[in-house]
Amino acid sequence: PKTTGHREVPEKVALAENALAVLNKRYLKKDKQGNPIETPEDMLRRVARTVAAAELVYNPRCDVRDIENEFYGLMARLEFLPNSPTLMNAGRELGQLSACFVLPIEDSIESIFDAVKHTAMIHKSGGGTGFSFSRLRPESDRVGTTGGVASGPVSFMRAFDVATDVIKQGGTRRGANMAILSIDHPDIEHFITAKQQAGVLTNFNLSVAITDKFMAAVRDNGEYDLVNPHNGEVFARRKARAIFDQIVQLAWKTGDPGIVFIDRINAENPTPQLGKIESTNPCGEQPLLPYESCNLGSVNLSKMVKGNGKKEVDYDKLGYTVRTAVRFLDDVIDVNKFPLEQIAEQTRRTRKIGLGVMGFADMLIDLGISYNSPEALATAEAVMGFVQSESHRASEALAAERGVFPAYEGSMYDGKVKMRNASCTTIAPTGTLSIIAGCSSGIEPHFALCFTRNIMDGTRMIEVNPCFERAARDGGFYSEDLMKKLAEGAHLEDMTEIPAEVKKLFVTAHNITPRGHVMMQAVFQKYTDNAVSKTVNFPADATVPDVEGVYLMAFDEGLKGITIYRDGCKADQPMSTGKAE
Ligand code: ADP
Repeated sequence: PKTTGHREVPEKVALAENALAVLNKRYLKKDKQGNPIETPEDMLRRVARTVAAAELVYNPRCDVRDIENEFYGLMARLEFLPNSPTLMNAGRELGQLSACFVLPIEDSIESIFDAVKHTAMIHKSGGGTGFSFSRLRPESDRVGTTGGVASGPVSFMRAFDVATDVIKQGGTRRGANMAILSIDHPDIEHFITAKQQAGVLTNFNLSVAITDKFMAAVRDNGEYDLVNPHNGEVFARRKARAIFDQIVQLAWKTGDPGIVFIDRINAENPTPQLGKIESTNPCGEQPLLPYESCNLGSVNLSKMVKGNGKKEVDYDKLGYTVRTAVRFLDDVIDVNKFPLEQIAEQTRRTRKIGLGVMGFADMLIDLGISYNSPEALATAEAVMGFVQSESHRASEALAAERGVFPAYEGSMYDGKVKMRNASCTTIAPTGTLSIIAGCSSGIEPHFALCFTRNIMDGTRMIEVNPCFERAARDGGFYSEDLMKKLAEGAHLEDMTEIPAEVKKLFVTAHNITPRGHVMMQAVFQKYTDNAVSKTVNFPADATVPDVEGVYLMAFDEGLKGITIYRDGCKADQPMSTGKAE
C-alpha cells in the first residue's frame, strides 16, 4: 500500500549558511575544477530518484515518480535525512550508501591485512568501520610458522590507523574506526592505555567489551581470568576491580576507552543463529555481525511540533514520516552498491536499518520543556516509544508486501511477528546531518547557545543558536553584547537580565548532571532496537569516583555502552558530537 498522501514540496530547500557550506564542500557533485555542478535540490532529487528505483524490484508497475516525490518532499522539508554516504553517493559511480560496517579479524596476517584493505575501500566511500581485535593472539605469544614473537592487537591497530590517514576518503571525510577488545584478552591493559600518548590512534575510538561475569566480579571484588584466544589457556588472573579502576581512571583522563556491555548486546541480537555480535560501528550506536553493514536515517523532531499557543507533538506527521522513512531505508538496501561480496550477502540476509531522531533538544524548547526535567524524560519516552512501534509496524507492513528478511527463521521474531528488517531503530550522532537540517544533534542537549566560528580568512564570527535568538528577541533581552559574552563562555544562569523560565528552557550540556545524561540515554535505549549514541558530559572538576558511579549506573540502567567526556580532558576522538565546530 502507498504510504499516504503527498505533502507540500518546497521549491527551494531552506538551508542555513553553514549547511550550504557543508554541502558545497563535501556532498554536491563537482566538476574537475572542484566547482559544484548540482544544487542541494538536485542532490536530494538524485537521492530520491535512486532510492525510489528499488520500488520497481517489487512492483514493476508501481508509480515510481509518486514515491520519488514523497521521498524528495520528506528530505526537502528537512523532516528526514539519510546518513551522509547516501546523500553523497546515491546515483553516482560509487553508489555505497551505508555509514556503518563491522569487519572480522582472524588471528592471521592474511586476515588482518585483508581487513586493512577492506577498511580502505569502505572509508573511501564515507563509511565507518568497527572491529573486534579479541581473536588475535597476545603480544608475547610465539608465532607458529616463523618462531617469532607476535605483535598483538594494539600494534596491528596502528596499521589500520595509518591506512585510515592515508585514505582521507578522497576529500569527502576522514575515516573513523572502532576497536573493541574483550575484557579477558591478555593484552587488555595495553589496550586500555593505548591512546594515552597524544597523537596515536587518532582515527580510533576504543571500547572494552565487558561481560556480565566481569561486572559481577567487580561487584564482589573478585578475580577473573585472562584467556589467550589462540589456545584457550588461562594466561593470568586479575582482580576485576583493578582493571575496572584503570578503565575508569583513563576514561576520566582522556575520554577513552568507552565500554560496551557485550553480553547485553548479544542477549538482544536479533539473529543469534547467524553468530555472535563482537563489535559496533565507530560511534557505538550500531552493533553488527561480522561483514554486516547498516544504513541509518534520522527524523528531525524539531519539525514534528504543532500548535500556536499551546504546542504539542504532531503524532500524525511523525507517524507518516516514520513510515515513509522505513520504506526509504529498506529501499536503500536494494540499490546499495556494497564494497564487498561478503558484505552484500550478510547485509541482505538481515536487512537491518537504523532509523533515529535528531533535533530532540529543539523540540523540547519548542514544547516549553526543560531538557533537565522529568517532563523531558516523559516526552522522550512517548516520542521514541511511538517511533519504535511505528517503525516496527512499517517493517511488518513491508514484510507483508515484500516478504520477511531472509534470516528470519531462527531469529528472535520467528513465530512472533513477520518483519522485513532484523532491526529498525538506531540513534546516531547526526554530526553532519544536524548541521544540514539546522537542528540540535541526535538526542543531545545544546552544547552552547552562542559560539565563535573561525572563518577561513582568519575572521571570527559569533553564531547564535536560532531558537535562542528568537526567544531573546521575543523576550526583549537580545543584545549583541549579551551574545558576545555568552560566546566567550559566560553562563546564562549567572546573568541577572535573563528571565528564570528562559534559563530553565535553554539548559546546555553542562547544566545537566552526568546522571541526567545517562537517564536520558536509558529512556531512548528502552525504545531502540540497536543502540544510542550519546555523550555524557562531566565538568572539569569531576572526580574519578564520579565517572565510576556513572559507568556502574550505565550497566544498571540497561545501556548497551557508554562514552563520557570531561570538560578540558584531552579527548582525541575521530569525531565528536554536540561540540561546536
Ligand atoms: P552523519 O551525520 O554524517 O550522517 P553521524 O555523525 O550520524 O553521521 O555518524 C553515524 C555513523 O556514520 C558513525 O557512527 C560512523 O559509523 C559513520 N561516520 C560518521 N562520520 C564518519 C567519518 N568521518 N568517517 C567514517 N565514518 C563516519
